[in-house]
Amino acid sequence: MSNSDAAETTAGNSETAAGAAETVDVVVIGAGFAGLIASRELGNAGYRVLTLEARDRVGGRTWTDHRLDHDLELGGTWVHWVQPHTWAEMTRYGREIVRSPAAEEARWLGAGGERRVASLDEFMALISPGQQRIIDDVRDIMPRGTEPTVGGISAIDHLTIQQRIDSLEMSEEARSANESVWVGHVNAPLDQTGISSAYRWVSATGGHWELMHEASATYRVVGGMSEWTRLIAKSVPGEIRLNTRVTAVAQHPGGTTVTCANGTQINARAVISTLPANAIGGIKFSPELPAVWQRQFAEKVASQGTKVWVKVRGSLPRFFGYATPQHPLSVLKSEFVHDDFSILVGFGPDHTALDVSDLGAVQAAVDAIRPGLEVVDATSHDWVADPLSRNTWMTHRPGQLSRDLAELQQPQGVLHFATTDNADLWGGFIDGAIESGLREAHTVAEALGPQN
Ligand SMILES: Cc1cc2nc3c(=O)[nH]c(=O)nc-3n(C[C@H](O)[C@H](O)[C@H](O)COP(=O)(O)OP(=O)(O)OC[C@H]3O[C@@H](n4cnc5c(N)ncnc54)[C@H](O)[C@@H]3O)c2cc1C
Repeated sequence: MSNSDAAETTAGNSETAAGAAETVDVVVIGAGFAGLIASRELGNAGYRVLTLEARDRVGGRTWTDHRLDHDLELGGTWVHWVQPHTWAEMTRYGREIVRSPAAEEARWLGAGGERRVASLDEFMALISPGQQRIIDDVRDIMPRGTEPTVGGISAIDHLTIQQRIDSLEMSEEARSANESVWVGHVNAPLDQTGISSAYRWVSATGGHWELMHEASATYRVVGGMSEWTRLIAKSVPGEIRLNTRVTAVAQHPGGTTVTCANGTQINARAVISTLPANAIGGIKFSPELPAVWQRQFAEKVASQGTKVWVKVRGSLPRFFGYATPQHPLSVLKSEFVHDDFSILVGFGPDHTALDVSDLGAVQAAVDAIRPGLEVVDATSHDWVADPLSRNTWMTHRPGQLSRDLAELQQPQGVLHFATTDNADLWGGFIDGAIESGLREAHTVAEALGPQN
């Protein structure tokens, strides 16, 4: 099946097509952003590239699906022009952005859990001093977003975001609001998340936390993420083989043999794994993975939360709301408002805390932030339970960034690693995935030498 067929139909059938071993220059494992970009670059440089993807679609942790009578982004959604790799690909494929609706009101739980309703400006004024103080020294700690381990980060990387917030003098009202904002950002309990994420994101936006807020949750891609990744897939020279889960990668003198779940074997001069750190244990590597990958897989990164779409009856004023990090949904906002129904999107730090098939539980989670709405349906994809991702958008545990990032970028023989998890600038984001794909395509091409 050609790559464009794969992109058109998203229905490869290679699991049943076991046969004699093929030989290519490079096997790329995974057709998310990192894999698609690496395959495209190497294919365009003249190498024979085969992309193997376990799912029945390209896009990985980005996926636009029609649910709740709407096209919904179940994974990665928001992009911004301060994300340089993302923006270059937006331009290349003629993509445009649309703004998620601006909130007419902000809702949060204040001191003593009392409900507050105010304007978004009033909420921003409440969190502003705390948000600034959390990263006040960003120019010393992480002066360049493109080199996140340069600066003072290693001296404080052992701290959690919770410890940083606890160390600051704040009113109970401001503390609670700042905690809710950060738990929404990192999709994980704050006492398990390293302070590095706060510095990385603000460093990537030139030291400005307000711009970081805008960059991470404001502009969606017109036409959806799946249309964008379908276009990228169409431009990849070489086959993208769907429904093809890799089970083993064995290096030997002269190259590598990649084995798939259907028994197919492919010989290659180089392999790029784009598996997230949390999922990389799904493949048996020989020799064993470098210690740094084994450690990350054993420890897991911090992000372990949920993204939930909720359909409610009727129209409503556009809102942005917060509960606490202890609630199943700590963030909720109106994303699509129609006359007869509206769609909300919510985030929580624990993927096990809310069963979306239990509409009573979803109603309670919504009521905690925005009472008075009638939940009629809800949906989600559990990326943390999904064995092909085991993670949402990567945020590090304390110490992982400064201890591991440089090593995670190193190849092991002819095995290379490209994933948003080992990107420099926007690690954890789509931008980081693209960066890592470009980086490893370059490194592999250097190692293999020019194609005639
Ligand atoms: C709920 C959610 C919300 C997010 N929101 C945003 C956002 O708003 N903005 C943003 O920039 N980012 C966001 N992200 C993060 C962003 O989606 C990811 O950082 C990015 O898509 C990761 O790309 P990747 O190529 O590194 O990894 P992936 O997309 O995970 O790609 C890895 C690929 O490898 C495949 N694979 C795994 N194991 C095997 C195997 N054994 N054999 C073959 N194939 C295999 C997987 O199926 C997958 O397709 C979000 C993510 C989630 C889940």
